[in-house]
Amino acid sequence: MAVPKRKSSKRKCRARKGSHASTIRVGQACPECSAPKQPHRVCPKCGQYRGVQVLTVESD
Ligand SMILES: [Zn+2]
Repeated sequence: MAVPKRKSSKRKCRARKGSHASTIRVGQACPECSAPKQPHRVCPKCGQYRGVQVLTVESD
C-alpha cells in the first residue's frame, strides 16, 4: 500500500479543507411554510418541527 512520503503541513491541510464547507447544503423544504430548512432541524421560518410548534418566531 502506498504511503505518503511526507506529512502534509497544517497550511496544506487547512488550505484544502477551506473549500469543503463553502456552501451550506439545504436538505428539504418545510412542509408547513415550504421554506428551505435542514433535515431533522426546527424550521427557522415558522418554528415548527414535525407539525408541532417548538419555537416562537418573531415576524417583522
Ligand atoms: Zn416552516
